[in-house]
Amino acid sequence: MKAWEENIRKVVPYVPGEQPQEKDIIKLNTNENPYPPSPKVYEAHRNLEVDRFALYPDPAASRLVKGLEKYYGLQEGQVFVGVGSDDVLALAFLTFFNSDKPVLFPDVTYSFYPVWADVYRIPYECPPLDDNFCIRPEDYKRENGGIVIANPNAPTSLALERDVVEEIVAANPDVIVIVDEAYVDFGGETALPLLERYDNLLVVRTYSKSRSMAGMRIGFAMGNPELIKAMTDVKESINSYTMTMESIEVGAASLEDEDYFQEKLSKVIATRERAKDELRKREFTVLDSSTNFLFARPNQAEAQWLFEELKKEKIFVRHFTGERIKDYLRISVGTDQQMDCLLQAIDRILG
Ligand code: PMP
Repeated sequence: MKAWEENIRKVVPYVPGEQPQEKDIIKLNTNENPYPPSPKVYEAHRNLEVDRFALYPDPAASRLVKGLEKYYGLQEGQVFVGVGSDDVLALAFLTFFNSDKPVLFPDVTYSFYPVWADVYRIPYECPPLDDNFCIRPEDYKRENGGIVIANPNAPTSLALERDVVEEIVAANPDVIVIVDEAYVDFGGETALPLLERYDNLLVVRTYSKSRSMAGMRIGFAMGNPELIKAMTDVKESINSYTMTMESIEVGAASLEDEDYFQEKLSKVIATRERAKDELRKREFTVLDSSTNFLFARPNQAEAQWLFEELKKEKIFVRHFTGERIKDYLRISVGTDQQMDCLLQAIDRILG
């Protein structure tokens, strides 16, 4: 072994869902939105001045930040933007979890959380969800270095009521509680109204799901100005220019088309409910989803086998090998037509 190898930071990375490059596939494996972004986004994109690409972008991403402050009725200084919510969450871990006490998040949740904890050498513990995949708030009422809750949770798709989130935030005034609301627009109850009363709460959101803009990599955090300032200081100690001119402009434009946003949300939700009923008719156990995906257990076949069989039919869903969830598939909600193709394929395979 070479001496420098000892100095390498060794980590086991997060593995994102596949992004197959062929066009003729049905992609239900990374919870993207099946609909395109708003026409306002197309317009903003067309109007980009390519000449200006020679310059650095606005390091404060002011147009986007101001747009979000206005959209959510927040004060100046309450919004932080980053390169997708993965970037925002990673930075929040680095900024707020600088203690020797363990950070707490559930055993079944977004599998990036333990990876960030490991890469930053943050100790953590994972209280198990109950047998119905629900959080037990009492598990979060002990000494800790911070808390992370995905609400609605992934990959379970289950939402927690705001009262329960509040109970956890209120019980932990000495640490930062991060609520990851990547999927909240599809039916969860947001923790945003709690920001007025709790200075230890950080709400994290993304453009990747409800705003149909995963490819633009836009995420943001909302919290009291002290928290946002702390994150900005850390960000500016790593990279001043995280947001491109393109992401700033199209991100701001997306906020200006509420009708389109609501219409597409309603469509995804209606398709989700229909697909859930159809899967239940086929004897799948399907959890009640507040997201744009379904967490479904095929009771008549092994999940991993069905995952592979669907792939042979060019339908990509997600399978996780974790002990508690290996019998389930996570299926993103596509268009009605895509979900019909999925159901037909399931009928052929399980026929
Ligand atoms: N949080 C959760 C719970 C997620 O499922 C995802 C998507 N993988 C993210 C955050 C990150 O999404 P993005 O970086 O695209 O904003």
